[in-house]
Formats: sequence, C-alpha cells, structure tokens
Amino acid sequence: MEIMTNDFKKASFQGQVIESSQQEKIKASLKKMLMFWGFALISLFIPVFHFVLVPLFLLLGIGFFFYQMKQSHSIDNLSFNCPACGKENKIKKMHFKDEARFRCQSCSVQLILR
Ligand SMILES: [Zn+2]
Repeated sequence: MEIMTNDFKKASFQGQVIESSQQEKIKASLKKMLMFWGFALISLFIPVFHFVLVPLFLLLGIGFFFYQMKQSHSIDNLSFNCPACGKENKIKKMHFKDEARFRCQSCSVQLILR
C-alpha cells in the first residue's frame, strides 16, 4: 500500500494498515451505535424536540452500525510526508474500505491510501 495524490505523486508511510477481523468490526460498529443511542437517551430530556431527536438518533445508530461493518481496514498511528508539500502528517486512527481518502493537514491536497 502507498499514499498517492490525484496526480499520481507517491509517498511511502510508516504505521500499520490492519485488515479488521469480523470481531473487531462488530466491536467498532457496536461502539458507534451505542454512541448514537447515548445521544438518543440524552435527547429524551429535551422538551418537545425529543419527539424528533430520539427516533432520529436511534435510526442513525443503526445506520452507522452497518456503515461501520463495511469498513474492512483500519489505520493505526500512520505517519507520512505529504507527496505534494513534503510536510509530515499523522493519522492516529481511521477505518476505511478499499481505499482511504484524506487531506494533507498543511496543504490540504487530497490523498488516497491504497
Ligand atoms: Zn501537503
């Protein structure tokens, strides 16, 4: 795997790209769902708006559960020099599927990891 800009400048990176096991995917997905359900619980105490917010957060929780289940890889403490500007970038944690897209933290060029 390598990091690439849209005009095919490449850079290598340090850090780990991990293929998530089914168990890890379920764990991350449940965490995301519970976070939204936590928001739903808090929304219970907001007068009037709880009619909208509670079902909204419950549904979002389920939506994000499935979204997270599709993320097959994760990044752990990635660091690299941007192929466009050469500045160092660090990414602590990120989940992705097939390819990860992000922006350089200093010149905001779009980068793809694949
Ligand atoms: Zn850059």
